[in-house]
Amino acid sequence: MILASLCYSALQVSGLTTLARRLSSGGVILCYHNVVASTDSDPADKLGLHMPLPTFERQMRWLAGAYEVVPLKELVDRSSRGASLRGAAAVTFDDAYGGVFDHAWPLLRALGIPATAFVVADAPGRDEGFWWDDPDVLRAYSPTQRQRWLTAFRGDGRRIVDALAAARRPWPPPRWRRPAAWHPIAEAARSGLDLGVHSATHRSLPALEERDLQCEVVQSREVIQSRTGVTPEFFAYPYGLWNDRVRRAVRAAGYRAAFTLEDGHHTATADRWALPRVNVPAGIEDAAFQAWTAGLNLRRWVRRDPDPPLESFEIARPQAPVARERA
Ligand SMILES: [Zn+2]
Repeated sequence: MILASLCYSALQVSGLTTLARRLSSGGVILCYHNVVASTDSDPADKLGLHMPLPTFERQMRWLAGAYEVVPLKELVDRSSRGASLRGAAAVTFDDAYGGVFDHAWPLLRALGIPATAFVVADAPGRDEGFWWDDPDVLRAYSPTQRQRWLTAFRGDGRRIVDALAAARRPWPPPRWRRPAAWHPIAEAARSGLDLGVHSATHRSLPALEERDLQCEVVQSREVIQSRTGVTPEFFAYPYGLWNDRVRRAVRAAGYRAAFTLEDGHHTATADRWALPRVNVPAGIEDAAFQAWTAGLNLRRWVRRDPDPPLESFEIARPQAPVARERA
């Protein structure tokens, strides 16, 4: 960890991060989850999903100066036309947490930065949090458990949490750690936040039968449309997991593009139904953030751990049992 931190600082100080940014011909799509007040941030945020607002603000101010931050649809349109993506960046949020609407979107509006939030259609307005934030889940976490949760349990939060303990205490998460309600989502959409679909229930799509897959891909969008008046054009795969059948279902449903959590830059030749995004963990230091955004992620160059680190809980890895299949 300390070594990585030193390496990123050295890359920054030597000017290599800036050089990589200037040489990159691809666009970059950043993926965040939640943004929270600094007083609500948890140093033990194992999965790195809840970024303190001051960190997010620093990153956004830097991004706005270093990149042309465009709406996601503009980046996809340029790619479809074969136009240059050099220096272009887009900002996205997965899961539509309450903190995105309380903290991130007001800041982005003030800075004039466009963004897209991918909504889990069954989640808004729920009192319960997402299963991966449940303290019992975090206590039980191990790489083996993670694989089991995403395959045998198909990423189904209710089944995962029910299987953990027979006599559980109810877990009332604080508001900022819950999915946002429909009202702030619809209001943000009216003020310019783009909405995308992140399934209906956030199950692992490759593990689902056809009927459930259709519900996650098609009905989810109808729900978001009826609650917000917006017809989303883009889809983000839950846990970044997809295969060719899932990709075909998303394409057939009429989405214009879909997004993974596989690290990488976006080029004109990229598969439009599996576009990579850079997942930004909450605790990332500025030098590492700038390097990752420029395409310099040291984790890609060193030994690929068969067990993903905690903060990449949502990231599909080639070793995952539900491996992606390309057409
Ligand atoms: Zn998600």
